[in-house]
Amino acid sequence: FKSKTSEWLDIHNPATNEVIARVPKATQEEMLAAADSCSRSFHSWSETSALTRQQVFLRYQQLIKDNIVSGMRRGKTLADAEGDVFRGLQVVEHACSITSLMLGETLPSITKDMDTYTYRLPLGVCAGIAPFNFPAMIPLWMFPMGMVCGNTYLLKPSERVPTCTMLLAKMLQDAGAPDGTLNIIHGQHDAVNFICDHPSIKAISFVGSNQAGEYIYERGSKNGKRVQSNMGAKNHGVVMPDANKENTLNQLVGAAFGAAGQRCMALSTAVLVGEARSWLPELVERAKALRVNAGDQPGADLGPLISPQAKERVCSLIQSGVDEGAKLLLDGRNVKVKGYENGNFVGPTIISGVTPQMKCYTEEIFGPVLIVLEADTLDDAIRLVNKNPYGNGTAIFTTNGATARKYTHEVDVGQVGVNVPIPVPLPMFSFTGSRGSFRGDTNFYGKQGIQFYTQIKTVTSQWKAEDATLKSPAVTMPT
Ligand code: NAD
Repeated sequence: FKSKTSEWLDIHNPATNEVIARVPKATQEEMLAAADSCSRSFHSWSETSALTRQQVFLRYQQLIKDNIVSGMRRGKTLADAEGDVFRGLQVVEHACSITSLMLGETLPSITKDMDTYTYRLPLGVCAGIAPFNFPAMIPLWMFPMGMVCGNTYLLKPSERVPTCTMLLAKMLQDAGAPDGTLNIIHGQHDAVNFICDHPSIKAISFVGSNQAGEYIYERGSKNGKRVQSNMGAKNHGVVMPDANKENTLNQLVGAAFGAAGQRCMALSTAVLVGEARSWLPELVERAKALRVNAGDQPGADLGPLISPQAKERVCSLIQSGVDEGAKLLLDGRNVKVKGYENGNFVGPTIISGVTPQMKCYTEEIFGPVLIVLEADTLDDAIRLVNKNPYGNGTAIFTTNGATARKYTHEVDVGQVGVNVPIPVPLPMFSFTGSRGSFRGDTNFYGKQGIQFYTQIKTVTSQWKAEDATLKSPAVTMPT
């Protein structure tokens, strides 16, 4: 419906900075109406059969497949935008297995004539708060798993990319989700606070920066809600000298600069071990060859940053590296893109000689910047990675199985790739960022996602034959 708000936020095309749409900041009344609508529809939606919910999501996954559209990107290249939708679609496909995923447990004959079994039940109204960088995938990590479990869902997309969520919501309606089961509210801090405080909301799934995620975790938890906060990252790629050089350099460059580094799993930090140090010049050559352009231009390898403020922040972090004594091997700050002179472009940038104290190492850059550190041995590299506060993702490049095994066992990071630069697990597993990249107990999708969106009820039942009826009150604790 049309918002009655008087406050609107402009949405810009990051390649030109032209205003292309406006998003309403939902009023308190509208947010209350959205939450009420979720509460009202919870009773009937949670009572629909698992098979009915499964059918809705089976139709939904087909509709998404039929409509993998370019309208779902915000400065992303077309191929990357399709990847965004595709990885979200996989979660919807996974949600279609709900009839197996939601099975409880049973133990018959736990004692004479007594059986115990558990149900997994929905929580009520659940909410999601999403970031800008995967406008399709991240909302699709949220409401499909929540809703297929029988919850209703209130979603606040990023105010910078709200249109994609609206398309996804429309398709869900077309797939047969009843009115009221998914409601969208737009806005910034007020909308976030509303979600953290509203008593009907039982669980919050957040993805975004640490600043917002820690705040939401605290405020939501204090109000008795289940909260999972998936936050920032500093993902290290450890390059061993025995690695397949060609493969490794290509993977590193792709994972550092793809999506202009605006991925929480971007491989933003290379650790060159021993002789692998000598690969730096070739790394730079490969990065130089990438083409920077508006996402909708053919051949673009990386597009613009989301906003002028993001560009300014990235450029100032690059400068901080220079000021602190690192070496700028490739500087993308003055890149010019013909026809898009006002865009928020930064070209591939490589900073070497970085040490752990430098600001460009301690802060997440979230731009097309690869910082390079060195280590003498694998043990040194592991110590370095484990000292970094973030634990979202990491990768090791090696041809030695024992090296890979040692790394995967000793590194304290939630998602580890062996010769895989961006190890985002498929949805039958879970997205398992850890340490400073995550707050909460259970992660996204996979078994953990089902756990997050359900609670367990345990039933103990006894059916005795008539002749086994108790003859007097049983006053002792049953054993
Ligand atoms: P962001 O934190 O600015 O915004 C995320 C959401 O929080 C938005 O909906 C926004 O409206 C809201 N928000 C922003 N600032 C807030 C504040 N101070 N208080 C309350 N709410 C606030 O993040 P972003 O710039 O949209 O996304 C980039 C960040 O997200 C990066 O740090 C990236 O690493 C992280 N990210 C993490 C994952 C993951 O799975 N761990 C995935 C994608 C992105």
